[in-house]
Amino acid sequence: MKKTLSRKITLAMVALAVGGILLTALLTNLALDWNFQRYLRSVQEEQNRLIVGTLSELYGEAASWSAVRHSTLHMGSTTGTQIRVYDNDGRLIADSLPGMMQGMQGRRWQEAQDQRGQTYEYPLLVQGQQIGFVEITHLGQEGLWTGEAMVFRRTVQQSALLTGLAAILAAIIVGMLLSRRLTARFAHLSTAAEKWGQGRFDVRTEPEGDDEVARLAETMNRMASRLEDQSNLRKKLTGDISHELRTPLTTIQSYLEAFLDGVMKPDKQNISAVLDESHRLSSLVNDLQELSNAEYRGKNVNLTEMDLNSFVAREAERVRPAMRQKDIRLSVTPHEKEAAVLADETLLGRVLGNILINAQKYTQQGGQVTVTVFDAGRRAGVAVTDTGEGISKEHLPHIFERFYRADASRTRSTGGSGIGLAIVRELLELMDGEVDVESQPGKGSTFRIFLQKPS
Ligand code: ADP
Repeated sequence: MKKTLSRKITLAMVALAVGGILLTALLTNLALDWNFQRYLRSVQEEQNRLIVGTLSELYGEAASWSAVRHSTLHMGSTTGTQIRVYDNDGRLIADSLPGMMQGMQGRRWQEAQDQRGQTYEYPLLVQGQQIGFVEITHLGQEGLWTGEAMVFRRTVQQSALLTGLAAILAAIIVGMLLSRRLTARFAHLSTAAEKWGQGRFDVRTEPEGDDEVARLAETMNRMASRLEDQSNLRKKLTGDISHELRTPLTTIQSYLEAFLDGVMKPDKQNISAVLDESHRLSSLVNDLQELSNAEYRGKNVNLTEMDLNSFVAREAERVRPAMRQKDIRLSVTPHEKEAAVLADETLLGRVLGNILINAQKYTQQGGQVTVTVFDAGRRAGVAVTDTGEGISKEHLPHIFERFYRADASRTRSTGGSGIGLAIVRELLELMDGEVDVESQPGKGSTFRIFLQKPS
Protein backbone atom coordinates (compact mmCIF):
# COMPACT_ATOMS: atom_id res chain seq x y z
CA MET A 1 0.00 0.00 0.00
CA LYS A 2 2.82 2.30 0.95
CA LYS A 3 4.60 2.02 -2.37
CA THR A 4 1.50 2.37 -4.48
CA LEU A 5 0.25 5.45 -2.65
CA SER A 6 3.61 7.18 -2.77
CA ARG A 7 4.03 6.32 -6.45
CA LYS A 8 0.55 7.57 -7.22
CA ILE A 9 1.17 10.94 -5.55
CA THR A 10 4.54 11.38 -7.29
CA LEU A 11 3.05 10.44 -10.65
CA ALA A 12 0.13 12.81 -10.14
CA MET A 13 2.50 15.69 -9.35
CA VAL A 14 4.70 14.94 -12.36
CA ALA A 15 1.66 14.64 -14.63
CA LEU A 16 0.42 17.96 -13.32
CA ALA A 17 3.80 19.61 -13.88
CA VAL A 18 4.13 18.17 -17.40
CA GLY A 19 0.56 19.18 -18.29
CA GLY A 20 1.07 22.69 -16.96
CA ILE A 21 4.38 23.11 -18.76
CA LEU A 22 3.05 21.82 -22.08
CA LEU A 23 0.12 24.19 -21.88
CA THR A 24 2.33 27.14 -20.96
CA ALA A 25 4.80 26.29 -23.77
CA LEU A 26 1.98 26.04 -26.28
CA LEU A 27 0.39 29.33 -25.26
CA THR A 28 3.75 31.13 -25.09
CA ASN A 29 4.65 29.87 -28.56
CA LEU A 30 1.34 30.92 -30.01
CA ALA A 31 1.54 34.36 -28.47
CA LEU A 32 5.16 34.73 -29.54
CA ASP A 33 4.38 33.70 -33.14
CA TRP A 34 1.40 35.96 -33.40
CA ASN A 35 3.22 39.02 -32.12
CA PHE A 36 6.25 38.14 -34.17
CA GLN A 37 4.20 37.93 -37.37
CA ARG A 38 2.57 41.22 -36.63
CA TYR A 39 5.93 42.83 -36.09
CA LEU A 40 7.32 41.30 -39.31
CA ARG A 41 4.39 42.52 -41.32
CA SER A 42 4.66 46.09 -40.04
CA VAL A 43 8.39 46.12 -40.79
CA GLN A 44 7.76 44.72 -44.29
CA GLU A 45 5.05 47.25 -45.03
CA GLU A 46 7.27 50.09 -43.90
CA GLN A 47 10.06 48.79 -46.11
CA ASN A 48 7.66 48.33 -49.05
CA ARG A 49 6.54 51.92 -48.83
CA LEU A 50 10.18 53.04 -48.93
CA ILE A 51 10.82 50.89 -52.03
CA VAL A 52 7.74 52.24 -53.84
CA GLY A 53 8.64 55.82 -52.83
CA THR A 54 12.19 55.44 -54.17
CA LEU A 55 10.94 53.89 -57.44
CA SER A 56 8.49 56.74 -58.10
CA GLU A 57 11.20 59.31 -57.31
CA LEU A 58 13.57 57.57 -59.74
CA TYR A 59 10.91 57.59 -62.49
CA GLY A 60 10.04 61.20 -61.74
CA GLU A 61 13.66 62.37 -62.04
CA ALA A 62 14.37 60.69 -65.42
CA ALA A 63 10.79 60.36 -66.75
CA SER A 64 11.84 56.94 -68.04
CA TRP A 65 11.80 53.34 -66.88
CA SER A 66 15.55 52.75 -67.28
CA ALA A 67 16.60 54.08 -63.85
CA VAL A 68 13.72 52.11 -62.34
CA ARG A 69 14.85 48.92 -64.07
CA HIS A 70 18.38 49.41 -62.87
CA SER A 71 17.54 50.05 -59.20
CA THR A 72 14.96 47.24 -58.93
CA LEU A 73 17.64 44.52 -58.86
CA HIS A 74 19.72 46.43 -56.32
CA MET A 75 16.81 47.09 -53.98
CA GLY A 76 15.52 43.51 -54.32
CA SER A 77 18.93 42.08 -53.33
CA THR A 78 19.44 44.37 -50.36
CA THR A 79 15.93 43.92 -48.96
CA GLY A 80 15.52 40.19 -49.78
CA THR A 81 12.40 40.79 -51.83
CA GLN A 82 11.27 40.10 -55.38
CA ILE A 83 10.22 43.44 -56.86
CA ARG A 84 8.18 43.41 -60.05
CA VAL A 85 7.27 46.70 -61.77
CA TYR A 86 4.42 46.86 -64.34
CA ASP A 87 3.25 49.77 -66.47
CA ASN A 88 -0.39 50.79 -66.67
CA ASP A 89 -0.99 48.21 -69.43
CA GLY A 90 0.25 45.43 -67.23
CA ARG A 91 3.52 44.92 -69.10
CA LEU A 92 6.38 43.75 -66.90
CA ILE A 93 8.97 46.51 -66.83
CA ALA A 94 11.40 45.11 -64.26
CA ASP A 95 11.82 41.97 -62.10
CA SER A 96 14.53 41.70 -59.47
CA LEU A 97 14.41 37.89 -59.23
CA PRO A 98 16.53 36.71 -62.19
CA GLY A 99 19.35 39.08 -61.24
CA MET A 100 19.18 38.01 -57.60
CA MET A 101 19.41 34.32 -58.61
CA GLN A 102 22.81 34.93 -60.08
CA GLY A 103 24.09 36.60 -56.92
CA MET A 104 23.01 33.87 -54.55
CA GLN A 105 24.42 30.43 -53.82
CA GLY A 106 22.20 27.51 -54.79
CA ARG A 107 21.15 26.32 -51.37
CA ARG A 108 20.42 29.73 -50.02
CA TRP A 109 18.44 30.56 -53.10
CA GLN A 110 16.39 27.40 -52.79
CA GLU A 111 15.72 28.24 -49.15
CA ALA A 112 14.54 31.71 -50.09
CA GLN A 113 12.29 30.32 -52.82
CA ASP A 114 10.74 27.74 -50.48
CA GLN A 115 9.76 30.40 -48.04
CA ARG A 116 8.05 32.92 -50.24
CA GLY A 117 6.06 35.27 -48.10
CA GLN A 118 3.05 37.39 -48.83
CA THR A 119 2.90 39.47 -52.02
CA TYR A 120 1.93 43.12 -51.64
CA GLU A 121 0.71 45.30 -54.50
CA TYR A 122 1.11 49.10 -54.64
CA PRO A 123 0.23 51.70 -57.32
CA LEU A 124 3.25 53.59 -58.67
CA LEU A 125 2.42 57.31 -58.60
CA VAL A 126 4.36 60.21 -59.99
CA GLN A 127 2.97 63.65 -59.07
CA GLY A 128 -0.39 62.15 -58.31
CA GLN A 129 -0.56 60.28 -61.63
CA GLN A 130 -0.48 56.48 -61.69
CA ILE A 131 2.16 55.28 -64.11
CA GLY A 132 2.06 51.59 -63.21
CA PHE A 133 2.10 49.29 -60.20
CA VAL A 134 4.61 47.38 -58.10
CA GLU A 135 4.40 43.83 -56.68
CA ILE A 136 6.69 43.05 -53.76
CA THR A 137 7.12 39.47 -52.47
CA HIS A 138 9.24 38.80 -49.43
CA LEU A 139 11.53 35.86 -49.93
CA GLY A 140 12.22 33.64 -46.95
CA GLN A 141 10.47 34.41 -43.69
CA GLU A 142 13.52 33.25 -41.81
CA GLY A 143 16.36 33.10 -44.22
CA LEU A 144 17.36 36.41 -45.53
CA TRP A 145 17.04 39.15 -43.02
CA THR A 146 15.14 37.92 -39.94
CA GLY A 147 17.95 35.71 -38.60
CA GLU A 148 18.31 37.61 -35.32
CA ALA A 149 14.64 37.49 -34.59
CA MET A 150 14.63 33.77 -35.21
CA VAL A 151 17.54 33.31 -32.81
CA PHE A 152 15.58 35.24 -30.20
CA ARG A 153 12.56 33.01 -30.77
CA ARG A 154 14.62 29.85 -30.44
CA THR A 155 16.27 31.14 -27.26
CA VAL A 156 12.86 31.75 -25.70
CA GLN A 157 11.78 28.24 -26.66
CA GLN A 158 14.94 26.71 -25.26
CA SER A 159 14.67 28.49 -21.92
CA ALA A 160 11.01 27.44 -21.69
CA LEU A 161 12.12 23.85 -22.26
CA LEU A 162 14.82 24.11 -19.58
CA THR A 163 12.39 25.69 -17.10
CA GLY A 164 9.97 22.84 -17.85
CA LEU A 165 12.58 20.18 -17.21
CA ALA A 166 13.56 21.87 -13.95
CA ALA A 167 9.87 22.01 -12.92
CA ILE A 168 9.44 18.30 -13.66
CA LEU A 169 12.52 17.47 -11.62
CA ALA A 170 11.21 19.63 -8.77
CA ALA A 171 7.80 17.90 -9.03
CA ILE A 172 9.46 14.48 -8.74
CA ILE A 173 11.50 15.51 -5.69
CA VAL A 174 8.63 17.33 -3.93
CA GLY A 175 6.20 14.52 -4.82
CA MET A 176 8.51 11.90 -3.38
CA LEU A 177 9.16 13.85 -0.18
CA LEU A 178 5.49 14.67 0.29
CA SER A 179 4.26 11.17 -0.42
CA ARG A 180 6.90 9.63 1.80
CA ARG A 181 5.78 11.83 4.68
CA LEU A 182 2.13 11.08 4.05
CA THR A 183 2.62 7.35 3.70
CA ALA A 184 4.74 7.33 6.85
CA ARG A 185 1.77 8.82 8.72
CA PHE A 186 -0.59 6.26 7.23
CA ALA A 187 1.84 3.49 8.12
CA HIS A 188 1.79 4.77 11.71
CA LEU A 189 -2.02 4.60 11.73
CA SER A 190 -2.06 1.16 10.21
CA THR A 191 0.43 -0.13 12.82
CA ALA A 192 -1.85 1.17 15.57
CA ALA A 193 -4.89 -0.46 13.95
CA GLU A 194 -3.01 -3.76 13.70
CA LYS A 195 -2.24 -3.61 17.44
CA TRP A 196 -5.92 -2.96 18.19
CA GLY A 197 -6.68 -6.00 16.06
CA GLN A 198 -4.47 -7.96 18.46
CA GLY A 199 -6.50 -6.65 21.40
CA ARG A 200 -3.95 -4.02 22.52
CA PHE A 201 -6.42 -1.15 22.93
CA ASP A 202 -4.05 0.91 25.10
CA VAL A 203 -2.01 1.90 22.01
CA ARG A 204 -2.78 5.39 20.64
CA THR A 205 -1.90 7.20 17.42
CA GLU A 206 -0.18 10.60 17.52
CA PRO A 207 -2.18 13.15 15.52
CA GLU A 208 0.21 15.75 14.03
CA GLY A 209 -1.14 19.09 12.75
CA ASP A 210 -4.81 19.59 11.98
CA ASP A 211 -5.27 18.13 8.51
CA GLU A 212 -7.48 15.20 7.45
CA VAL A 213 -4.89 12.61 8.46
CA ALA A 214 -4.64 14.17 11.92
CA ARG A 215 -8.43 14.12 12.20
CA LEU A 216 -8.46 10.48 11.12
CA ALA A 217 -5.87 9.74 13.81
CA GLU A 218 -8.03 11.51 16.43
CA THR A 219 -11.14 9.62 15.32
CA MET A 220 -9.19 6.38 15.48
CA ASN A 221 -8.02 7.26 18.99
CA ARG A 222 -11.58 7.90 20.10
CA MET A 223 -12.57 4.60 18.56
CA ALA A 224 -9.73 2.88 20.43
CA SER A 225 -10.86 4.48 23.71
CA ARG A 226 -14.36 3.15 23.14
CA LEU A 227 -13.00 -0.27 22.28
CA GLU A 228 -10.85 -0.15 25.40
CA ASP A 229 -13.87 0.86 27.51
CA GLN A 230 -15.94 -1.90 25.95
CA SER A 231 -13.20 -4.42 26.50
CA ASN A 232 -12.76 -3.37 30.14
CA LEU A 233 -16.52 -3.37 30.64
CA ARG A 234 -16.77 -6.85 29.20
CA LYS A 235 -14.05 -8.09 31.54
CA LYS A 236 -15.73 -6.36 34.47
CA LEU A 237 -19.13 -7.68 33.43
CA THR A 238 -17.89 -11.27 33.26
CA GLY A 239 -16.35 -10.85 36.72
CA ASP A 240 -19.51 -9.24 38.07
CA ILE A 241 -21.80 -11.90 36.64
CA SER A 242 -19.77 -14.77 38.09
CA HIS A 243 -19.68 -12.96 41.41
CA GLU A 244 -23.43 -12.39 41.37
CA LEU A 245 -24.12 -16.00 40.45
CA ARG A 246 -21.70 -17.38 43.01
CA THR A 247 -23.46 -15.91 46.07
CA PRO A 248 -26.91 -17.50 45.63
CA LEU A 249 -25.37 -20.71 44.27
CA THR A 250 -23.09 -21.05 47.34
CA THR A 251 -26.08 -20.44 49.60
CA ILE A 252 -28.14 -23.09 47.80
CA GLN A 253 -25.22 -25.55 47.89
CA SER A 254 -24.59 -24.99 51.60
CA TYR A 255 -28.27 -25.59 52.41
CA LEU A 256 -28.40 -28.75 50.31
CA GLU A 257 -25.13 -30.09 51.82
CA ALA A 258 -26.44 -29.36 55.29
CA PHE A 259 -29.65 -31.24 54.44
CA LEU A 260 -27.61 -34.22 53.17
CA ASP A 261 -25.28 -34.23 56.17
CA GLY A 262 -28.30 -34.05 58.45
CA VAL A 263 -26.93 -30.82 60.02
CA MET A 264 -30.12 -28.99 59.00
CA LYS A 265 -33.66 -30.14 58.59
CA PRO A 266 -35.28 -29.70 55.16
CA ASP A 267 -38.28 -28.08 56.82
CA LYS A 268 -40.61 -25.49 55.26
CA GLN A 269 -38.61 -22.53 56.44
CA ASN A 270 -35.25 -23.85 55.19
CA ILE A 271 -36.63 -24.99 51.86
CA SER A 272 -38.25 -21.60 51.30
CA ALA A 273 -34.83 -20.00 51.98
CA VAL A 274 -33.36 -22.20 49.23
CA LEU A 275 -36.29 -21.26 46.97
CA ASP A 276 -35.65 -17.53 47.62
CA GLU A 277 -32.08 -17.93 46.48
CA SER A 278 -33.16 -19.79 43.34
CA HIS A 279 -35.68 -16.99 42.63
CA ARG A 280 -32.88 -14.50 42.99
CA LEU A 281 -30.84 -16.50 40.50
CA SER A 282 -33.63 -16.62 37.94
CA SER A 283 -34.43 -12.91 38.37
CA LEU A 284 -30.75 -12.12 37.86
CA VAL A 285 -30.70 -14.22 34.69
CA ASN A 286 -33.89 -12.49 33.49
CA ASP A 287 -32.39 -9.04 34.14
CA LEU A 288 -29.24 -9.98 32.26
CA GLN A 289 -31.33 -11.25 29.38
CA GLU A 290 -33.30 -8.01 29.30
CA LEU A 291 -30.17 -5.87 29.41
CA SER A 292 -28.60 -7.82 26.58
CA ASN A 293 -31.85 -7.52 24.60
CA ALA A 294 -31.81 -3.77 25.14
CA GLU A 295 -28.19 -3.55 24.04
CA TYR A 296 -28.71 -5.59 20.89
CA ARG A 297 -32.18 -4.44 20.08
CA GLY A 298 -30.74 -1.72 17.90
CA LYS A 299 -33.10 -0.76 15.14
CA ASN A 300 -36.04 -2.87 16.34
CA VAL A 301 -37.54 0.07 18.18
CA ASN A 302 -41.05 1.00 17.25
CA LEU A 303 -41.35 4.71 18.03
CA THR A 304 -44.93 5.97 17.96
CA GLU A 305 -46.63 9.13 19.09
CA MET A 306 -48.21 8.56 22.50
CA ASP A 307 -49.79 10.60 25.28
CA LEU A 308 -47.78 10.51 28.49
CA ASN A 309 -50.74 11.49 30.71
CA SER A 310 -52.82 8.41 29.98
CA PHE A 311 -49.78 6.13 29.75
CA VAL A 312 -48.47 7.16 33.17
CA ALA A 313 -51.91 6.74 34.75
CA ARG A 314 -52.08 3.15 33.43
CA GLU A 315 -48.54 2.25 34.55
CA ALA A 316 -49.16 3.65 38.03
CA GLU A 317 -52.14 1.33 38.46
CA ARG A 318 -49.88 -1.68 37.84
CA VAL A 319 -47.67 -0.86 40.84
CA ARG A 320 -50.45 0.37 43.10
CA PRO A 321 -50.94 -3.08 44.77
CA ALA A 322 -47.19 -3.35 45.55
CA MET A 323 -47.24 0.20 47.01
CA ARG A 324 -50.29 -0.65 49.09
CA GLN A 325 -48.45 -3.63 50.60
CA LYS A 326 -45.94 -1.20 52.11
CA ASP A 327 -48.62 1.36 52.87
CA ILE A 328 -47.04 3.83 50.45
CA ARG A 329 -49.27 6.61 49.06
CA LEU A 330 -49.04 6.82 45.28
CA SER A 331 -50.25 9.98 43.57
CA VAL A 332 -50.22 10.81 39.86
CA THR A 333 -50.18 14.40 38.53
CA PRO A 334 -50.82 14.60 34.79
CA HIS A 335 -49.73 17.64 32.77
CA GLU A 336 -52.54 20.14 32.19
CA LYS A 337 -52.23 19.79 28.43
CA GLU A 338 -51.77 16.65 26.38
CA ALA A 339 -48.14 15.55 26.61
CA ALA A 340 -47.33 13.76 23.35
CA VAL A 341 -43.95 12.06 22.97
CA LEU A 342 -42.27 9.66 20.56
CA ALA A 343 -41.65 6.35 22.32
CA ASP A 344 -41.88 2.58 22.09
CA GLU A 345 -44.77 1.70 24.41
CA THR A 346 -43.36 -1.64 25.58
CA LEU A 347 -39.90 -0.21 26.28
CA LEU A 348 -41.27 2.86 28.04
CA GLY A 349 -43.40 0.51 30.19
CA ARG A 350 -40.20 -1.28 31.33
CA VAL A 351 -38.45 2.03 32.02
CA LEU A 352 -41.25 3.45 34.14
CA GLY A 353 -41.91 0.06 35.78
CA ASN A 354 -38.25 -0.26 36.91
CA ILE A 355 -38.19 3.28 38.34
CA LEU A 356 -41.55 2.83 40.15
CA ILE A 357 -40.49 -0.55 41.59
CA ASN A 358 -37.24 1.01 42.85
CA ALA A 359 -39.26 3.82 44.46
CA GLN A 360 -41.36 1.17 46.17
CA LYS A 361 -38.28 -0.87 47.20
CA TYR A 362 -36.27 2.02 48.63
CA THR A 363 -39.14 3.85 50.38
CA GLN A 364 -40.02 2.92 53.92
CA GLN A 365 -43.43 1.79 55.09
CA GLY A 366 -45.96 4.65 55.03
CA GLY A 367 -43.92 6.80 52.59
CA GLN A 368 -45.06 8.74 49.54
CA VAL A 369 -44.40 8.31 45.80
CA THR A 370 -45.46 11.02 43.35
CA VAL A 371 -45.51 10.62 39.59
CA THR A 372 -45.64 13.88 37.59
CA VAL A 373 -45.86 14.44 33.84
CA PHE A 374 -43.98 17.58 32.76
CA ASP A 375 -43.19 19.59 29.66
CA ALA A 376 -39.58 20.63 28.91
CA GLY A 377 -39.65 22.60 25.64
CA ARG A 378 -38.75 20.25 22.82
CA ARG A 379 -39.04 17.31 25.18
CA ALA A 380 -41.58 16.04 27.69
CA GLY A 381 -41.16 13.57 30.50
CA VAL A 382 -42.10 11.94 33.78
CA ALA A 383 -40.69 12.59 37.24
CA VAL A 384 -40.94 9.94 39.97
CA THR A 385 -40.34 11.39 43.43
CA ASP A 386 -40.16 9.27 46.56
CA THR A 387 -39.69 10.02 50.22
CA GLY A 388 -37.32 7.07 50.57
CA GLU A 389 -33.81 6.73 51.90
CA GLY A 390 -32.14 8.70 49.10
CA ILE A 391 -28.76 8.12 47.54
CA SER A 392 -25.53 9.66 48.77
CA LYS A 393 -23.38 11.89 46.51
CA GLU A 394 -20.61 9.31 46.07
CA HIS A 395 -23.02 6.69 44.73
CA LEU A 396 -25.18 8.99 42.62
CA PRO A 397 -22.96 9.07 39.49
CA HIS A 398 -22.73 5.27 39.41
CA ILE A 399 -26.23 3.99 39.97
CA PHE A 400 -26.89 3.61 36.22
CA GLU A 401 -23.92 1.25 35.86
CA ARG A 402 -24.52 -2.48 35.65
CA PHE A 403 -24.44 -4.30 39.02
CA TYR A 404 -23.96 -1.07 40.93
CA ARG A 405 -25.71 -0.99 44.24
CA ALA A 406 -25.44 1.92 46.64
CA ASP A 407 -25.48 -0.43 49.61
CA ALA A 408 -24.66 -3.95 48.51
CA SER A 409 -25.52 -5.79 51.70
CA ARG A 410 -28.84 -4.03 52.17
CA THR A 411 -29.98 -4.08 48.55
CA ARG A 412 -29.15 -7.74 48.23
CA SER A 413 -31.70 -8.32 50.93
CA THR A 414 -34.23 -6.40 48.78
CA GLY A 415 -33.48 -8.78 45.92
CA GLY A 416 -31.94 -6.13 43.63
CA SER A 417 -29.37 -7.19 41.11
CA GLY A 418 -28.12 -3.68 40.34
CA ILE A 419 -29.15 -4.00 36.70
CA GLY A 420 -32.56 -2.26 36.71
CA LEU A 421 -31.27 1.29 36.17
CA ALA A 422 -28.71 0.11 33.57
CA ILE A 423 -31.68 -1.27 31.61
CA VAL A 424 -33.55 2.04 32.10
CA ARG A 425 -30.68 4.04 30.62
CA GLU A 426 -30.11 1.61 27.77
CA LEU A 427 -33.80 1.55 26.76
CA LEU A 428 -34.09 5.34 26.91
CA GLU A 429 -31.04 5.70 24.68
CA LEU A 430 -32.79 3.51 22.11
CA MET A 431 -35.69 5.99 22.14
CA ASP A 432 -33.39 9.04 21.98
CA GLY A 433 -34.39 9.78 25.54
CA GLU A 434 -32.50 10.47 28.76
CA VAL A 435 -32.70 9.90 32.50
CA ASP A 436 -31.35 11.93 35.40
CA VAL A 437 -31.61 11.79 39.15
CA GLU A 438 -31.54 14.12 42.12
CA SER A 439 -31.41 12.80 45.61
CA GLN A 440 -31.02 13.87 49.21
CA PRO A 441 -29.94 11.09 51.55
CA GLY A 442 -32.57 10.52 54.20
CA LYS A 443 -35.17 12.63 52.37
CA GLY A 444 -35.83 10.97 49.05
CA SER A 445 -35.01 10.88 45.35
CA THR A 446 -36.44 12.16 42.07
CA PHE A 447 -35.84 10.23 38.85
CA ARG A 448 -36.74 12.15 35.67
CA ILE A 449 -37.06 10.65 32.24
CA PHE A 450 -37.05 12.83 29.11
CA LEU A 451 -38.47 11.89 25.71
CA GLN A 452 -38.58 13.67 22.35
CA LYS A 453 -41.81 15.37 21.31
CA PRO A 454 -43.07 14.59 17.83
CA SER A 455 -41.91 17.30 15.37
P1 ADP B 1 -31.33 -2.79 42.08
O1 ADP B 1 -31.79 -4.01 41.39
O2 ADP B 1 -30.27 -3.01 43.08
O3 ADP B 1 -32.45 -1.92 42.55
P2 ADP B 1 -30.93 -0.68 40.17
O4 ADP B 1 -30.03 -0.63 39.01
O5 ADP B 1 -32.38 -0.59 39.91
O6 ADP B 1 -30.57 -2.02 40.95
O7 ADP B 1 -30.51 0.44 41.17
C1 ADP B 1 -29.15 0.62 41.47
C2 ADP B 1 -28.98 1.18 42.88
O8 ADP B 1 -29.48 2.50 42.94
C3 ADP B 1 -29.78 0.42 43.90
O9 ADP B 1 -29.08 -0.67 44.39
C4 ADP B 1 -30.01 1.48 44.96
O10 ADP B 1 -28.90 1.52 45.82
C5 ADP B 1 -30.07 2.77 44.19
N1 ADP B 1 -31.44 3.25 43.95
C6 ADP B 1 -32.18 3.07 42.86
N2 ADP B 1 -33.41 3.65 42.98
C7 ADP B 1 -33.43 4.23 44.20
C8 ADP B 1 -34.40 5.00 44.93
N3 ADP B 1 -35.60 5.32 44.43
N4 ADP B 1 -34.07 5.42 46.17
C9 ADP B 1 -32.87 5.12 46.70
N5 ADP B 1 -31.90 4.42 46.05
C10 ADP B 1 -32.18 3.96 44.83
